[in-house]
Amino acid sequence: MRVAIAGAGLAGLACAKYLVDAGHVPIVFESREVLGGLVAAWKDEDGDWYETGLHVFFGAYPNMLQLFKELGIEDRLQWKEHTLIFNQPEQPGVLSRFDVPDIPAPINVITSILRNNDMLTWEQKIRFAIGLLPAIVRGQQYVEDMDKYSLLEWLQMRGVDDRVNSDIFVAASKALTFIDPEDVSATVPLTALNRFLQERYGSKVAFLDGSPTERLCQPLVDYITERGGEVQVKKPLKQILLNPDSTVRGFALRDIDGGCDEMVTADAYVSAMSVDVIKTLLPEPWRGLEVFRRMQSLEGVPVINIHLWFDRKLTDVDQLLFSRSKLLSVYADMSNTCREYANPDKSMLELVLAPAKDWIDQSEDEILAATMAELKRLFPNHLEGDTPAKLLKSKIVKTPRSVYTAAPGSQACRPEQATPITNFFLAGSYTLQRYLGSMEGAVLSGKLAAQAIDQRYPGTAVAASALEPVSVS
Ligand SMILES: Cc1cc2nc3c(=O)[nH]c(=O)nc-3n(C[C@H](O)[C@H](O)[C@H](O)COP(=O)(O)OP(=O)(O)OC[C@H]3O[C@@H](n4cnc5c(N)ncnc54)[C@H](O)[C@@H]3O)c2cc1C
Repeated sequence: MRVAIAGAGLAGLACAKYLVDAGHVPIVFESREVLGGLVAAWKDEDGDWYETGLHVFFGAYPNMLQLFKELGIEDRLQWKEHTLIFNQPEQPGVLSRFDVPDIPAPINVITSILRNNDMLTWEQKIRFAIGLLPAIVRGQQYVEDMDKYSLLEWLQMRGVDDRVNSDIFVAASKALTFIDPEDVSATVPLTALNRFLQERYGSKVAFLDGSPTERLCQPLVDYITERGGEVQVKKPLKQILLNPDSTVRGFALRDIDGGCDEMVTADAYVSAMSVDVIKTLLPEPWRGLEVFRRMQSLEGVPVINIHLWFDRKLTDVDQLLFSRSKLLSVYADMSNTCREYANPDKSMLELVLAPAKDWIDQSEDEILAATMAELKRLFPNHLEGDTPAKLLKSKIVKTPRSVYTAAPGSQACRPEQATPITNFFLAGSYTLQRYLGSMEGAVLSGKLAAQAIDQRYPGTAVAASALEPVSVS
């Protein structure tokens, strides 16, 4: 069966991969020249990579890890020590570690919290543990039901000390969703916490050994094309064309060179574009359908990824760090964490600026100046004094609408992969799956969309053949 997919982010590529595995023929149309969507990366004029986002993989990403195995590229994941490292805002330059011992879950994570005395007192830890109990004991259904509350409301309801919020959850919430605890649904951080508490290596972090575009997306494309599928870039979906019964008749693709639009027909169609894009492309007759109506409330959240190259090493930490700064979220010295970006003498910091709503429209100079001011608190020994480290160059990537904003109440707005339109499916990390707006969520959504297609059309696997594009004016 032939399946047309719009969007070559991880969801679209994973969907195509699992469709070829099931014997179908996917063809992916990506609007941009570069693969990967929110994991896309580019090389600058010096040959240095810069990325849409600083990305880490977690041990609690079963579908992503399985995908690496199936592609034969597991050695590209560089696993780090099992520890979470936080900056201490009141002690510039000082780090606090939650070292997770190699013992079964959840004792490993609990031990790491109990052993850390820099950030929380014993009383705060005990009240935190008691507050968390229902989320652990009553499981995912309880966690889902908490979607009506913001994380901050939930912590207050559970009597958790404010210090736990300011010390741990502000950093966790910014890292997971790019927004603060007063704006994020309680379901999101509680889901992540539950995974970390249930799996021995759930909170263990890995970095990819190079750019996601080359080291993860390209192997996916090779896998798909070697098995009869296709991936075409610079092919934006312009319109979803309908049959009289409102099923999809074809995808109209815009010619970016100003030529004729092209219509592509297939047996089934998938949108693997971000929720902001598919919302604008929904055909009029579908807009009243409950699932698409609810989707209108979802919206991508702004985020900014900053790259700074320095003339010397600022740190030898080979791990993700939680800055706990107002401006910044997580960061890493990629010259330590990533094989392809390695440099023994110079640092390349990659930092996520979040929440970014007040910064997304600011100039790059303003963003850079504010970031450098914050960095003095993170690296006082290198950025203050008589011979501060010199900033060699910088790159700033703004994403005004990234993953869906995980606000309270948004779980009910996330659509399933199968829609009421019989030949139309959705993939994307915003669609309903248990891993939230993450790379794991994107891959799982693609897999679920492929399964839904396979189930809706049983016995339709065909030998590989390309889709025939038809020119339409
Ligand atoms: C700064 C940042 C840091 C992050 N860090 C992490 C992390 O550490 N760990 C983690 O797990 N996740 C992280 N994420 C989230 C993760 O990147 C996303 O959840 C995931 O990549 C989303 O994939 P997707 O395929 O669902 O959507 P997208 O990546 O948005 O893919 C959609 C694709 O559709 C294409 N498209 C749009 N319009 C059209 C059109 N008209 N026609 C055809 N194609 C179109 C887009 O160009 C894009 O390629 C981060 C995201 C950002 C922005």
